[in-house]
Amino acid sequence: MAAKPFVQIENVTKRFGRFTALDRINLDISEGEFLTIVGPSGSGKSTLIRLLVGIDDVTEGTISLNGTRIDTMPANKRPTCMVFQSLALFPHMTVGQNIEFPLKLRGVAPADRRTRAIELLALLRLPESYYGKRISQCSGGERQRVALARALAFDPQIIVFDEPLSALDYRLRKTLEKELKDLHARTGKTFVYITHSLEEAMVMSDRIAIMRSGRFEQIATAEEIYSRPISRFVASFMGEVN
Ligand code: ADP
Ligand code: MG
Repeated sequence: MAAKPFVQIENVTKRFGRFTALDRINLDISEGEFLTIVGPSGSGKSTLIRLLVGIDDVTEGTISLNGTRIDTMPANKRPTCMVFQSLALFPHMTVGQNIEFPLKLRGVAPADRRTRAIELLALLRLPESYYGKRISQCSGGERQRVALARALAFDPQIIVFDEPLSALDYRLRKTLEKELKDLHARTGKTFVYITHSLEEAMVMSDRIAIMRSGRFEQIATAEEIYSRPISRFVASFMGEVN
């Protein structure tokens, strides 16, 4: 028998009152995979990853990691973390304080926090001198790197991104796309990435999952989706790539 998938989302339904946002979703994600979720606005992308990281609870179904259920675990106990579009950095604090914040919450000693923060600055190719710099003095791209460093501070097994680059201008987005892909390769972490840019999805991902009205329409490599779209919906969605 095949080994259990790394992440297994089984028959997950999410309802808000009488509205069904996710309808019996099934998805397996491999360890170290870069999986991108695309789909029209309102199709359920954010809802799904909120369930994965524990910001919200499933109505029905299960989410497992290495065969252990995580949907019943509180968010702060899950081996997941999320990077938002809005970044959610603390502007009045320094880069170092931001990166160390999740470590501080979990009681890591100051010296160890600092060591880890400096390692993470290097990983994100930011100079060590940035440690004491205020967020308000950092550019958009630098803030994005700090947000990533903070996300990595806890060594999560799965990093989830909800349209992290969509607020940035085209050139910066292209640069950060490359950096993200490179970071994925260097960390070997599992990335689940949401974007409304199919172009971005095509460049970055091992597989693309296309959502439509709370269900997956097709999950496959960019090449497969491009050459063998499963439906008109997918084909027309792919047609929007420019
Ligand atoms: P996407 O990220 O693909 O744009 P979302 O996952 O944010 O879509 O939303 C999917 C659907 O669920 C939308 O119709 C949205 O209005 C609805 N929805 C999301 N969160 C809530 C909520 N807390 N209460 C009610 N409806 C919600
Ligand atoms: Mg969304």
